[in-house]
Amino acid sequence: MGSGCNYDGLDSFVKIPTIKFTKLFINGEFIDSISGKTLETIDPRTGEMIARVAEGDKEDVDLAVKAARHAFDSGPWPRLPGSERGRIMMKFADLIEENVEELAALDTIDAGKLFSTGKVRDIPVAASILRYYAGAADKIHGEVLKMSREFHAYTLREPIGVVGHIVPWNIPSVSFFIKVSPALAAGCTMVVKPAEQTPLSALYYAHLAKLAGIPDGVINVVTGFGPTAGAAISSHMDIDAVSFTGSTEVGRKVMQAAAASNLKVVSLELGGKSPLIIFDDADVDIAAQLALTGILFNKGEVCVASSRVYVQEGIYDQVVKKLVENAKAWVVGDPFDPKVQQGPQVDKKQFEKILSYIEHGKREGATLLTGGKPLGGKGYYIEPTIFTDFKEEMLIAKDEIFGPVMALAKFKTIEEAIERANNTRYGLAAGIVTKDLNVANTVSRSIRAGTIWINCYFAFGNDCPFGGYKMSGFGKDFGLEALHKYLKVKSVVTPLYNTPWL
Ligand code: ADP
Repeated sequence: MGSGCNYDGLDSFVKIPTIKFTKLFINGEFIDSISGKTLETIDPRTGEMIARVAEGDKEDVDLAVKAARHAFDSGPWPRLPGSERGRIMMKFADLIEENVEELAALDTIDAGKLFSTGKVRDIPVAASILRYYAGAADKIHGEVLKMSREFHAYTLREPIGVVGHIVPWNIPSVSFFIKVSPALAAGCTMVVKPAEQTPLSALYYAHLAKLAGIPDGVINVVTGFGPTAGAAISSHMDIDAVSFTGSTEVGRKVMQAAAASNLKVVSLELGGKSPLIIFDDADVDIAAQLALTGILFNKGEVCVASSRVYVQEGIYDQVVKKLVENAKAWVVGDPFDPKVQQGPQVDKKQFEKILSYIEHGKREGATLLTGGKPLGGKGYYIEPTIFTDFKEEMLIAKDEIFGPVMALAKFKTIEEAIERANNTRYGLAAGIVTKDLNVANTVSRSIRAGTIWINCYFAFGNDCPFGGYKMSGFGKDFGLEALHKYLKVKSVVTPLYNTPWL
């Protein structure tokens, strides 16, 4: 392997946690699925089974929605003062922090994520998202309206109701809390379906929610497959809103199901093919580092990965040299090893899909600068891979590969960079590396994407709205914008001067 991988010594890095929660969490209880069926969750380091987890289906989703509906219509959660909801959410966040190692380890064995990143980033970030929205829970207000007619009016912001959250597998903990936290603050109740590849931490969070004092029925977790349990959520007549993160193809199905059922509110955070544009005045070392981390972080399984890198001709050769050097030195191996920078892809399907894109790139005539092969005898490891000399219509330049595969190109002018960066059906994020403020301003205003990072990448923050343009979806995560996804505005109007009006 790219050094560092040691299957025999896995346990020397960390104690693999005992799996405590494998059942559906409905109405405050862990229960078996109605069918009694279970699904296997697999360790991508080895391809072996970690545990069997309850396989929820439509009937289980019905049960969970019933619990959430009851908790919304008659339970305390939506009726509590916001400050009290916030206090309970703060407690929930404390409990997460008390269990950081175990939660990080669960995401490592389930998703192949780096344990060190989970410990210092994913799990603490999950707790911080909860705290951000806990602080917002008692600041949800409408407005007083000065109407142009003889009326007095005000608006109320009310919780939208029962929410269905369909969660992806690449960043299981953060994705869970991006969705659950603002919905909790708003006073909603919910059914969460984690991805079938990564159900373990979500079930643990259900347990912590109960310990924190979140009332029964407010958070229900149904583990199961997308076309069954996931589809049951998006088509459910008694779910008021669905929040989905995943592929554009599945996002389309979620929207169709919502339209064909009860016209529930939909928000979609979908795929990306994000460009990173490096201008001639950039520091070569920093630019190469940003570009490589932009594509290899979390083994490329990131919706905003900088999968298309455009470098201006004056420094192109230098950047290529540095990128290839750094990619070759990038350490791929067991994600529990603190020296390792890249773990295995999430599962066999994803692993094979990425390798087939690489083969496609080679067949179509792009130049493979480095990588391109699987690593190790078992598990789903892939070399950091860089293609150049690609054409914009090639699949490696157009499709979201969701793996450690960069498409690298040279450009001459700022206009060409903007045109090529925008030549995609996606619009999730983009990066710009330059010291020239005018260039940075011009490019950031010209690119049709929801987030622009100038001289940085992955600069997420709880207070910074995140979401797509174009086929990357709609509806923001993070920030107060996400809170508003889970609120409805009601207008209340009354005549002034006691005059009866019809
Ligand atoms: P990927 O294709 O990258 O595995 P998906 O978009 O399929 O990602 O998965 C994201 C989430 O969507 C997962 O929780 C998955 O179970 C769910 N999902 C998959 N298919 C459907 C579907 N037809 N309806 C609703 N949810 C689905």
